[in-house]
Amino acid sequence: MPKIEVKNPIVDISGDEMANVIWEKIKKELILPFLNIKLVTFDLGIINRDLTSDKITHDAAYAINKYKTGVKCATITPDDKRVKEYKLKKKYPSPNGTIRNIINGTIFREPIILKNIPKFVNHWNESVVIARHAFGDIYKSKEISINKKGRLFLRFESFDKKQIINEHIYDFSSPGVGLSYFNIDQSIKEFALSCFNFSLNRNIPLFLSTKNTILQKYDERFKKIFDDLYEKKYKKKFLQNNITYQHRLIDDMVACLMKWSGGFLWACKNYDGDVMSDLVAQGYGSLGLMTSVLLSPCGKILETEAAHGTITSHYLQHKNGLDTSTNPIASIFAWTRGLLHRSNLDKNKKLKTFAENLEKVCIETVQSGFMTKDLALMIGPDQKWINTNQLFQILSKKLNKLSNT
Ligand code: NAP
Ligand code: MG
Repeated sequence: MPKIEVKNPIVDISGDEMANVIWEKIKKELILPFLNIKLVTFDLGIINRDLTSDKITHDAAYAINKYKTGVKCATITPDDKRVKEYKLKKKYPSPNGTIRNIINGTIFREPIILKNIPKFVNHWNESVVIARHAFGDIYKSKEISINKKGRLFLRFESFDKKQIINEHIYDFSSPGVGLSYFNIDQSIKEFALSCFNFSLNRNIPLFLSTKNTILQKYDERFKKIFDDLYEKKYKKKFLQNNITYQHRLIDDMVACLMKWSGGFLWACKNYDGDVMSDLVAQGYGSLGLMTSVLLSPCGKILETEAAHGTITSHYLQHKNGLDTSTNPIASIFAWTRGLLHRSNLDKNKKLKTFAENLEKVCIETVQSGFMTKDLALMIGPDQKWINTNQLFQILSKKLNKLSNT
């Protein structure tokens, strides 16, 4: 069987522990036998990050900007314990944070839905995709403790001193706390662009939630920036594609989330996205079925990964020569979603079909009863499970068969 030609490279970022063992298997058994593709590989394993003083992470991010498509394995974000374990020169920042800052995109979290895997929220039959505006708000706030009687202000002073705004907040007659935070139009606009582009790419409606009834300047700015962009740039395309954009109050939106059956993109402010992405992930059930996509404001640069970490507990078993039943599906979907993006950019139909087939094979395999332990446990004690190697054998066989027809 001839391999499918892929004209342009994709950036392949390898990582740590069990996730990396799975990553190498995906390449060797499910990608490279089928595609003639150039992988521009960066080893972001913690040892190499330390050797390069984290330069490799920056290089990888710039390469994604250059080649427009990257797929990333889970990596260790070192804490004090990891610094000791690997004798690291320093406690490096999260690679995901570094890459996000360079690509300047938005992260979209999306579950993979399998009919026979029970969900905590039974009627979520389609994905709820969460986009989190990961800039500003409480994450860049300043807080103070107040222990004396006195007056609290919010003050702005222009650099030329020509404008001074002093907003009186509260007169304290007993102890308390105060807080101030900010956001900037540019960042909100880039967030909005990423969201509109994601919606269009995937043909799903978009909802933005805020509390603009209370924050009539702050949250209203988010709404206005989204509304203006929609009117100017996206309305026509949305109507052509039969999808909608709407702003909703956050309280109304959480009620809809529980009522509806999924099938939409939810643009969340920073804190809401932090909380809601965990709530929604739990509602769908398994970390092993959650994917994560980073999309640039222009919609052209995309990086994908599984939402789970490096699965340390399974790696310890693996190192002791034991077979593990680790779920590779979210990592495989990182590859397929990356390949789909490449196929869209290059207008490569064969590549598109291949990526869709690989997703289909994963879904059909689990739905016909062959799955890893994490998923079997969700069905119940009578559900049989297989180990990762056995699952790969089935996937590879089915993919071969499908690719030959
Ligand atoms: P984790 O690697 O996601 O694993 C937590 C637990 O979830 C595992 O012990 C396992 O449970 C289960 N699990 C997760 N993925 C699974 C899969 N594919 N198949 C089967 N079970 C799965 O999170 P963590 O243990 O908190 O973090 C480990 C390391 O990953 C940390 O160093 C952290 O920095 C890093 N991390 C990286 C990323 C990233 O690169 N995006 C994200 C999160 C964490 P059982 O042990 O019960 O089987
Ligand atoms: Mg969180």
